[in-house]
Amino acid sequence: MSRLRTSIQSIFQDPPFQSINPRFTVARAVAEPPLEVNGLREGLEEKVMDALERVELRPVEEYMHKYPHQLSGGQRQRVAIARGGLVLNPSLLIADEPISMLDVSLRAGILNLLRRLKQESGVSIMYITHDIASAKYIGDRVYVIYRGGQVVESGSVGQVISEPLHPYTMALMVASRGGFRGGSARSELGERIFSTEEGNRDTGCLFEPRCPFSRDVCSRERPELKEISSGHSARCHFAGTLRAEAMKAQA
Ligand code: SF4
Repeated sequence: MSRLRTSIQSIFQDPPFQSINPRFTVARAVAEPPLEVNGLREGLEEKVMDALERVELRPVEEYMHKYPHQLSGGQRQRVAIARGGLVLNPSLLIADEPISMLDVSLRAGILNLLRRLKQESGVSIMYITHDIASAKYIGDRVYVIYRGGQVVESGSVGQVISEPLHPYTMALMVASRGGFRGGSARSELGERIFSTEEGNRDTGCLFEPRCPFSRDVCSRERPELKEISSGHSARCHFAGTLRAEAMKAQA
């Protein structure tokens, strides 16, 4: 478990003050908890300095002694990435909405940093987001999650974003391009899919109460996640045919 904890690290949504102790200097924040909790004290200072260098907080000697309130939001997120993503050389970094609390002007810098770290160190990043554009920018594979963590679609970024198979993914893509303006079919899709209707779903498709394409079988039989084309899967009885139907409805 100790080795596993070391190899999996995380960065959080709110670097401004909640994920970094405001009473810690940058050096201490980067060193704790990963190194001290895991008991890896050897070469601690060098590792901290190397991590700060790699997230481009330069000059490193200056930043090491600063406190979170002396940094910008983007700089605090860089400290969080150094702490969670670098100092232990993890093999998996879980990044939970890492740019959502930042100014738009700072977001590209953090995404570029994550992309560079991924390429340089080979770390796998599980990037959790509601933002399709940033998922497209940083992702290789996409997993669309619905209700209670159920994967309703998975595939490469190109497959899922350009050719969505599941109605929920289709709606997310339409919404990301400006919503459901005009046309009764598009309006209906938006209203139903983003409604709060949950229903009591002991059987059938969990998405059925919101799905504009549901048919009788959908309320009776729960669909499995099945591969529709190479590497592209969806959890829908009609995944292979709905895209044409949805496009016709939007025409
Ligand atoms: S299985 Fe039926 S209800 Fe579920 S997403 Fe597909 S069409 Fe909609």
